[in-house]
Amino acid sequence: MSKDLTQRLKKLNHQADWVGLREVKGINQHCTARNGKFEQNSTTIDHGIMVEALVNGQFAYCGTADLSDHSLQMACDRATHLARHMSSWKIFPFNTDHRPAERGQYHSPARLSFTPATTGEIMDRLVDATQKMKVSDKIVNCKAQALLIEKEITLVSTAGSHIHQHICSFASNLSATAQEGTETQTRTTGSPCQQGGLELLQTQILGSESERIAKEALDLLKAEECPTGVYDLILAPDQLYLQVHESIGHPLELDRILGDERNYAGWSFVQLSDFGQLQYGSPLLNVVFDPTVDGEYASYAFDDAGLTATRQYLIKDGVLLRGLGGLDSQKRSSVPGVASTRASSWNRPPIDRMANINIEPGNSSFEEMISGVERGIFMSTNASWSIDDYRNKFQFGCEYGRLIENGKLTKIVKNPNYRGITSNFWHNLKKVGDPSTFKIWGASNCGKGEPNQMIQVGHAVPICLFENVDVFGGTS
Ligand SMILES: [Zn+2]
Repeated sequence: MSKDLTQRLKKLNHQADWVGLREVKGINQHCTARNGKFEQNSTTIDHGIMVEALVNGQFAYCGTADLSDHSLQMACDRATHLARHMSSWKIFPFNTDHRPAERGQYHSPARLSFTPATTGEIMDRLVDATQKMKVSDKIVNCKAQALLIEKEITLVSTAGSHIHQHICSFASNLSATAQEGTETQTRTTGSPCQQGGLELLQTQILGSESERIAKEALDLLKAEECPTGVYDLILAPDQLYLQVHESIGHPLELDRILGDERNYAGWSFVQLSDFGQLQYGSPLLNVVFDPTVDGEYASYAFDDAGLTATRQYLIKDGVLLRGLGGLDSQKRSSVPGVASTRASSWNRPPIDRMANINIEPGNSSFEEMISGVERGIFMSTNASWSIDDYRNKFQFGCEYGRLIENGKLTKIVKNPNYRGITSNFWHNLKKVGDPSTFKIWGASNCGKGEPNQMIQVGHAVPICLFENVDVFGGTS
């Protein structure tokens, strides 16, 4: 990283009204083992500086991977030129208030740091995990993966901002596939991911988890198909987090609602006039934007526009209050937002993204939820997803289902799926699990924008019960 980015900014010649520099160094390491053997270990290092310039009310960007003073000056000249040129066609007159001066630091809560020497320890653990999955000859494929991300971000501006953030995270997945005749079933650990250091290797990749998923894959081979019909549905956090991501997170992104973002099923059924008005779901639904949760995958203290990140209600008692939009979208839309302007790296401008989007726990225990259901299904671990351009009609498939009959968990069912319409589904939320059911999940691969920006998101949710859901069997 540059020794003193503020000094480098001061040395630049420019005629812009405001200039910001965002230096990012990211190191991603992927490790994979399969069927008791090492398969892959790859490391990607990405380092550069993005220059953002404001001229005549218009922002523009230019990034450089050449970190020399000459190249940084050229990037600054280009960003300034683009901003001046585009200002004749601007859609909104921005000013220096839209990039407030902030100073501060953030460090992920990592107890044990990653070093080149830890790669051997990780690989040994992954190989061992795949060996432990081989509990039967019917287990035909055992895979274990780990993804380590370390990112340093420094942001300075001519207004006086100086922000430094150091993010360290660990994600993994174990996957066991069982086969008998033409029937194949896969069970995984659902890709747990958190901020932290090597200590997460010890908590995420457990021998007992290897054995559990392998045995459950074998159980699924013998299981009946999930029935079709209208059922009460209880979702485990490792499925519900993706339901939140697709049917609450993405539709609330203000740039989609403003019409900027149409890629990747990129519109929204939500309108600007809905904020403060729309009953998004049942009164039990409380959703927060919370980048302050210790160890959650997308925690940070400042977004990539330099705005201080705080916990905010997006939905309270079922009513939609705020959008997922940083300062630029908030000014354009006059809708309250959050500090969620994020860029995947130095070579992308920041756009409206999710960070940690969480459902607050309620007061029902898991046992209470099960005992109150006469005819239902408990589903866990996401297997597939599909949602339309308006983020309205959706269909999800899960790895593992259990029937609920007269207040008791009974038979295992394979290939469980459900479908619905966003608003009806969240209105049918009837019970929200207590803190003992609350778990942190997230995803490494939320894609958005063109050119593509892949970022990490966090979702912490309790177990929840939904009434009258269309459920069906079969691979989707
Ligand atoms: Zn996404």
